[in-house]
Amino acid sequence: MLEAAGLSFDALWVAGAVGRGVAAGTRAQSAAADRLAAQPRRAARGPAARELAYARALTAQLDASAPTVVFSYADTVDDHKNLPSPLIAHLPRVAATWLQPAPASRALFASEPALERVADEHAPAWTAGAPFRGGATLIEAQSACPFQAAARFVCARTDGPMLRGLQPTERGKFVHAAFAAFWRGVRDQRTLLALDESRLAATIAQAVVAGRAAVNDALWEALPPVVAAVESGHVERLMKQWIDKVERNRPPFVVADEERRVGLTLAGHALDLRIDRLDDLGDGRMAVIDYKTGMSVAPERWFDERPQGPQLGLYAMALGAETRIAALVYAQLKPGQVKAVGLVDAEATWPGLPAPADLRRVSVADWTDAQQQLAASIGALAQAAHEGDARIVPRGPKVCRVCALMPLCRKAAVDEADDGADDTESGA
Ligand code: SF4
Repeated sequence: MLEAAGLSFDALWVAGAVGRGVAAGTRAQSAAADRLAAQPRRAARGPAARELAYARALTAQLDASAPTVVFSYADTVDDHKNLPSPLIAHLPRVAATWLQPAPASRALFASEPALERVADEHAPAWTAGAPFRGGATLIEAQSACPFQAAARFVCARTDGPMLRGLQPTERGKFVHAAFAAFWRGVRDQRTLLALDESRLAATIAQAVVAGRAAVNDALWEALPPVVAAVESGHVERLMKQWIDKVERNRPPFVVADEERRVGLTLAGHALDLRIDRLDDLGDGRMAVIDYKTGMSVAPERWFDERPQGPQLGLYAMALGAETRIAALVYAQLKPGQVKAVGLVDAEATWPGLPAPADLRRVSVADWTDAQQQLAASIGALAQAAHEGDARIVPRGPKVCRVCALMPLCRKAAVDEADDGADDTESGA
């Protein structure tokens, strides 16, 4: 009883409010307090009077500590009729059948209070100087939807549960590792062109076996053998298509480096990047190549107000002015749509790929301007991430269709509520 005094509750039920039940203290004092409580107030004197004053204050405090307070007492005990404590005599009686007060939450719901809207558009800012988690994917997500970037890379603490089977990420690792193994053996286009069909097939098959090591053994073991064989066959076919369609038909090159780790600092945060491939074009100029197992973003979209496909721009920034970059190319390895997607300094560098002057929808003066524009837009995205920009403003409906965070951001529910509000206004 004493511990409850002074606290506030959603609802309170004080049992045992029989005569002598509520007043604290010794039995004799309580009995005296009860007797005094039954008398007019002006008659109270001495220690019992003090006890009564205390008991009254305590009862009043309990009575005020919740929106709904019930004092109850046993009507009879051992065939003896009980009376309620005089301390609660002034309270209205309620029916004995009324056993359960309505929960406060239900009362709150029934009262339909006006909902408060809070636009919380800021995640915690990144700690100054801490490395950006997520690499190029963070910058890409910041452009797609600031909330998505914050939820995935600022607020998320753990990866989701491991799913059975190869997921797109695992398949991507597999493809990357298989290509890396292939070019470790076949270093340049001249060697590639010297391979006959059967030697090329054998080299690809070996690379695929090596690439499997990039995926956790436990995942392979979890796959039925027939599914694992399908995965390997799929990668083998993709590699063959890419090599036949693209690598054999472009100007000569030497693979200068693979899976090169590079660092970049943006908005004061270190970013750890890995460039899939760097090709020497024979005159000191380099092509930066990024393998993509899905659809790649066309270069015109790289220069949108909210740029898409920023990886290659990030790699160019990380390589810096000391690397003479002449081509930024995504190797699109999507079944049935295998092709190179990118931007080059001049048409002759990689026939079939556009130079800045070929871009119609955006204004890019030349190759230098292209790199400067990419660096500026990526820098702005990094600054927004640094400041904790977490607005729910997807770049377009497509972004939400491939995002699993709808239950967290509740965009659909908010849009629906907004539509309802608009309807109400227009009908008023
Ligand atoms: S569902 Fe749409 S709005 Fe929500 S986090 Fe994903 S991209 Fe952003």
